[in-house]
Amino acid sequence: MQAVVTGGAGFIGSHLCDYLIAHGHEVVALDDMSTGSEDNLQQLVGNPSFELVKGSILDKELVNDLISGSDTVFHLAAAVGVHTIVDNPLSSLRTNLHGTENVVEAAAEHGARYMVASTSEVYGKNDSDGLTENADRILGSPLKSRWSYAAAKGLDELVAYVYGEETGLPCVITRFFNIVGPRQTGRYGMVVPRFVSQALAGEPITVYGDGRQRRCFGSVFDIIPAVVELLENPSGHTQAVNLGGMEEVSIKGLADRVIQLTGSSSEIRFIPYEDAYGAGYEDMQRRMPDTTLARQLIGYEPQRSLDDIIMSIIEHKRADAEPSPAAIR
Ligand code: UDP
Repeated sequence: MQAVVTGGAGFIGSHLCDYLIAHGHEVVALDDMSTGSEDNLQQLVGNPSFELVKGSILDKELVNDLISGSDTVFHLAAAVGVHTIVDNPLSSLRTNLHGTENVVEAAAEHGARYMVASTSEVYGKNDSDGLTENADRILGSPLKSRWSYAAAKGLDELVAYVYGEETGLPCVITRFFNIVGPRQTGRYGMVVPRFVSQALAGEPITVYGDGRQRRCFGSVFDIIPAVVELLENPSGHTQAVNLGGMEEVSIKGLADRVIQLTGSSSEIRFIPYEDAYGAGYEDMQRRMPDTTLARQLIGYEPQRSLDDIIMSIIEHKRADAEPSPAAIR
């Protein structure tokens, strides 16, 4: 593969770059370094098969130029994290809408197969037991910027889908369900690295709302091989595929697990949503994937338990000493 990985310096993107390089592929990572970090790629510096290009997916010419020399595109660049979206609604929307359009257009023009990263957010407030890929979307008001990520990603999927169907190029849309692991920062909202940093610093664990909302966290190490395999073995037409973990936990339960696994003496502090995200914030109460389609297509079976995932983050943070959320926000 001659692959372009947009968002290659980010959390999932950098693990994907590692995996592709380890499997003998050539990789160009494109990243505007807004939420990505060079630290995530330090192990690849000097590797002749790898290059990091610092630039934006909004730079149409640059995107076109990079993709013209590739046969495979993994599009992961996006404005991510609830705090990013709520604090910067306009720039987030621009990146997530126009950036994806640029990437998919260039892939279509140059005949490169492509993957577009999407999210369980597209299901919105649908809290059914095991969301299948064709489950209904239940989004709040378009005038609430909180929904802009879900709305933009839904349109990204349509762009990916329509181009895929029209060009006949292999294309896959991956819907990630709360994917976590080492290198993910808590700076922009993600709960697991935040709780781990807080526990390691002995600070209060900030549980938003009543903590009874549930999530199903998936390991980055389980989903990366699946992403590559889905694109290498396309099913013949474009489809969206759920990828995530199997073990559901409440956010209060997650806080308890993190305290136990770090051996921390942190207390749990409940914070009203409006203090965390601003007035009128609507959270999803439950988000549980049905991964039957991924299992049917590629035999997807997540291997890591929630405790394995939390432990891998604890070990990474202990080695890395990332500051706690209180120190960064
Ligand atoms: N959350 C929390 N404390 C934090 C950060 C997040 O209780 O410091 C909650 C958040 O309100 C949500 C869940 O943890 O219910 C997962 O949040 P995250 O931003 O990781 O992902 P989301 O599922 O919201 O996209």
